Parts: sequence; C-alpha cells; structure tokens
Amino acid sequence: MRPLPDRRPTGPTGPTTWAEDAPTALIFTAPPPAPPPVAQRGALPSALGALGLGLALLGALPALPAAPPALPLSAPAAAPAALPIENDAAQRALRAAVLQPPIIERPVLWNAERERLAMLYFERHKGWPPGQDPKRALRMEPRVIVQHWTAGPTARSAYNTFRAPAQVRRRDRSESNALNLCSHFVVDRDGSIYRLMPEDRMGRHTIGLNHLAIGVENVGDGKRWPLTQAQVEANAALVRWLAAAYPLTHLIAHAEYRWLESHPYFVETDPGFRTGRIDPGPEFMGALRAAVADLGLQAPTRPERPHRRQRLSGRPSPHG
Ligand SMILES: [Zn+2]
Repeated sequence: MRPLPDRRPTGPTGPTTWAEDAPTALIFTAPPPAPPPVAQRGALPSALGALGLGLALLGALPALPAAPPALPLSAPAAAPAALPIENDAAQRALRAAVLQPPIIERPVLWNAERERLAMLYFERHKGWPPGQDPKRALRMEPRVIVQHWTAGPTARSAYNTFRAPAQVRRRDRSESNALNLCSHFVVDRDGSIYRLMPEDRMGRHTIGLNHLAIGVENVGDGKRWPLTQAQVEANAALVRWLAAAYPLTHLIAHAEYRWLESHPYFVETDPGFRTGRIDPGPEFMGALRAAVADLGLQAPTRPERPHRRQRLSGRPSPHG
C-alpha cells in the first residue's frame, strides 16, 4: 500500500507548544516518563521480561501465613511452592506494559456534572435501570476500537471540543442528550498520542458501541489535512498495546459502525438515533489494518442491504 504523506505539524500545532500553553496545571498533568522501547509481540527482552514477570508474579502470589506451623526437627526441608508460571493475567499485564507506546496525559474535565450527564445519556440509550451505581455503570471492558478523524487541524482544537462536560450546541435540547462527545485518545499529525480519559471508561463517540468501544481521534480530515504515515504508525502501536491489555475483537472505522447493527455488541434503544459517518477514510484504515494484521482483529462486513441513507458528514456530530 502506498505510504500516506508524512506531514508533520509546523508552528503552533505541535504538542510542545500545546503543553506550554496549557491553561492550568489542574487539567494538564506532566507527561509520564518514556516507557521502554516497543518490542515485537512475543519477543520480550529477556532481562526486562524476567524482571517484569517476577514483579507481576509477586503480586499474584498469596500472602504468607503470619505464623507457619513449626516443623519437626527431623523433617526434611519443604520444597518451595511452584511458581504459577502459566498465569494468564500476569503475562497479559507484562506484555501490555512492554508494548505501551509513549502516551501524554490530557484528561478532559470529568467531574460530577459529566458523570451525571453520562448516566442520563446511557440510561436513555442503553436502557439501564435507574439507580444503578454510576461508577460501576460507566466502566466497560473494551472489545472494539473505533477510529475517527477530528475534522480539524490541531490536537488542541480537538481537546477543546471534548473538554467540557456538556455540549455547547445541540439540536436535541433534552438533558439526556447533553453529554459532550469524547474519545479516549487523540493522535496528532506527528504521531503524538494523547489520552483524554481512561480506556475502560465509557465515552460518547460512536452510537450503539460506546459501552464497549475505545475511541481514537486522528487530527485531520480527508482533504485539507490528510492523515499521515506517522499517525498510521502511532495507531498501530496503540492498537497493539490495547489488544494486549484488553480482550479486543474488532478494529473498525467510524464509517463502518452501522455495519455492526445486527451484531450483539450494538445497543441503542432509539432506532432513529443514527448519523452517517465517513471518517477516517478507507486509505487510512487499509494502512492501519495492514500494520496490525497479525492481531486478527475483525473488520465488520458491509451488509447486503444498505441502511437508510444518511446525510454523510466528516464533521463532529451532535449524536456522536
Ligand atoms: Zn468519528
């Protein structure tokens, strides 16, 4: 596949400028130290692997009894207990830790109002029983990654769109539709990855799939700011890490979300609540899927009977 143009940002669009212009220290936390170099899946560096596995296994071992029973003097020394080498959770955590790409934390405002609006939104669209514990209800086990574009030129403008708890302009004025859009990650045009919210928390970015989908926004669009090769590579590293950390099954474009309407994953109580999407474009998705083909993530297939026509748009939608 022909590589995408590598268009690096110039002037005020770079992440360093963005960070220095941060409005308050409350919102912007310092970036974490750089993680170790990304390794190929299944080829962990032996020293680091041994250290990490040891640490992971330490956490998995049962606590020692306070006072072990005294052995008779004549008894032979007890053999040490076998370590649970085949510990799936520990191995998964270790693999994910090694694969995690550099991520810059840029959390959106997640306060009591956002939590309340999120509960209202998800009660309406997923039909949850009222009174469910919000903190538990808004947690998810991710199964799907949905790729988007921001339809804008900078990561900062995307962040500013997602930051506030409520949407500023919306056609549906009801409070249950007031929750602002937000994906979990923004990938800038130079490949910098920003995390806006924890990847196991439900955001609002894709109708019908928000309760199990991680959203990734790519700065750009299909025309004025075409997505870059650096974004393909950063997304491949991000997807590789997320697939190690969570039981993912699908990697989809936002443009493909309606193709999952007959899949058990898709939950939307309002059959008329749909938008037509085209992001992030087949060229980008083709390059990304080729880069992570070994992960075996599924792509939805286009249904034989097309859905009712929607007005197609690359702009951020009031419906997500
Ligand atoms: Zn989108």
